[in-house]
Amino acid sequence: MTTSYTTTIPDPAEVVALRLLAAVFDVTVSISDQIPRVACDVCGLEGAETAARVHGDPAEDSTAPTCTDCCVTCIPHVVRAAHWELRDGSRRGVRLEVASWAA
Ligand SMILES: [Zn+2]
Repeated sequence: MTTSYTTTIPDPAEVVALRLLAAVFDVTVSISDQIPRVACDVCGLEGAETAARVHGDPAEDSTAPTCTDCCVTCIPHVVRAAHWELRDGSRRGVRLEVASWAA
């Protein structure tokens, strides 16, 4: 049996974009292909499709981190809400996953 490895060298522009996102929103950013492309429930605007997933970590119950899928327009709002819920007891910061099709 052979094992195949896929090496992906990120596009430099993609890396810059992700670092910019991380700095602007004070989050850890990654790309994911696990985000379903469906209507955005956060804004509910017609044609708005989920393109990101924001993971929060409210200290009140850090055994149940929050997870919100949203469209590109809603990212700042959802990230702000996730930051607002963070407290000193939060074990992780806010993480932002961007859908691979939107990156
Ligand atoms: Zn939205």
